[in-house]
Amino acid sequence: MGNGYFKPTKYKLRCLACGKEFTEDNHLLSCDAEHGPAFLRAEYEEKQLTVHEEASGMFRFSDWLPLRRPIENSALPVAYKSEGLASHLGLSNLWIVFSGYWPDRGADMRTCTFKELEAPPVLSRFTDDSRTLVLASAGNTSRAFAEICSANGIPLLMVVHEAGLSCMWSTKPFSDSVKLVAVTGDADYFDAIHFSGMIASLPGYIPEGGAKNVARRDGMGVSVLAAVITAGRIPDHYFQAVGSGTGGISAWEAAERLRADGRFGDVGMKLHLVQNHPFTPLVDAWNQGSRKLLPMDEAEARRRISQINANVLSNRRPPYSVKGGVYDALADTQGHMYSVTNGEADAADELFLKTEGIDLTPAAAVAAAALKKAIQRKTITADEMVLLNVTGGGQKRLFAEHKINYLKPHLEVRRDEISERVVKRLFG
Ligand SMILES: [Zn+2]
Repeated sequence: MGNGYFKPTKYKLRCLACGKEFTEDNHLLSCDAEHGPAFLRAEYEEKQLTVHEEASGMFRFSDWLPLRRPIENSALPVAYKSEGLASHLGLSNLWIVFSGYWPDRGADMRTCTFKELEAPPVLSRFTDDSRTLVLASAGNTSRAFAEICSANGIPLLMVVHEAGLSCMWSTKPFSDSVKLVAVTGDADYFDAIHFSGMIASLPGYIPEGGAKNVARRDGMGVSVLAAVITAGRIPDHYFQAVGSGTGGISAWEAAERLRADGRFGDVGMKLHLVQNHPFTPLVDAWNQGSRKLLPMDEAEARRRISQINANVLSNRRPPYSVKGGVYDALADTQGHMYSVTNGEADAADELFLKTEGIDLTPAAAVAAAALKKAIQRKTITADEMVLLNVTGGGQKRLFAEHKINYLKPHLEVRRDEISERVVKRLFG
């Protein structure tokens, strides 16, 4: 498996609440000490980043990825300085980091989502194929994991709600090691998370871990690493659309590592995170100055989620309050949050296609729409360096140019049928 240069990375894990250090890493997701919820963070032996051009795909950034075994991957985001969109908006130093399919720019991430940066390091870090990784997803993460697990023959069980099923496609065949479970009956992403948690507690299964998984966060951080290596400095501002907010946390952690490296400027990169109106739990909490998410009635949350076009931004329990989570990332960078309507996102998608030349996924369009708001709110100025993370794009073009295979669910379970007894019968 894998090709080219590979060397396991030297790193430790540290608890962000009590500082406890873990030198043995076997897919550890949290600290064992008694305290409130807190992330672990990877501390890499290499404090300065060397780009290993001879490594495959994103593993050229292996110095700052918790890698333990080679995994075949080709994912690499492409960073460039914008001309069209920048001049339209009146920004003189706008950079774009693009994850997706855009042959003219050398971007060949066939899943058309930056989630393809999460799967390879997670699967490299997790080396026990006698247990099946269980993953809940709003759609994009599952597609990315299915792609990489298929290419490497690694067992994977994905739980996806109905709205996410249309995301389960690939330009390549899926392997038998990959299984898809659908939660039906008006289920949302949270139902998929709940169900996957029940399966993952059974023998033979293990939870992938989501935001708690340092490999997932540092994998996403590669977008920032790629952009800074290309531009030569840390941006002043960083824009991304968020559901769980994990991408924002990852960008913050990557930027702080680059600042400690010392060669890319002593810049505290400010986070500008964006959600799709009317489902905006992170925006609402942050704008109230609250360290806790504001209470939202379940039926109301489901109603709001049904109104957003960027379905992948629909996490009802994002890691906001946890130590090292979204609140800390925003507070540390004196960041901002924005709410963008479907109409504003559609307009941004059209503008991006016209000025830059590629289609955006709905979430990336939400992020792009926030640039205009930030200019109006004067949270950025015309000459500062701004980085827009285009977390997905080129899907329309990919579909026009390639044959697409869809993965059908191996099993469907209704939301109101889920119980411990049913989970044991089906997966025990
Ligand atoms: Zn601890």
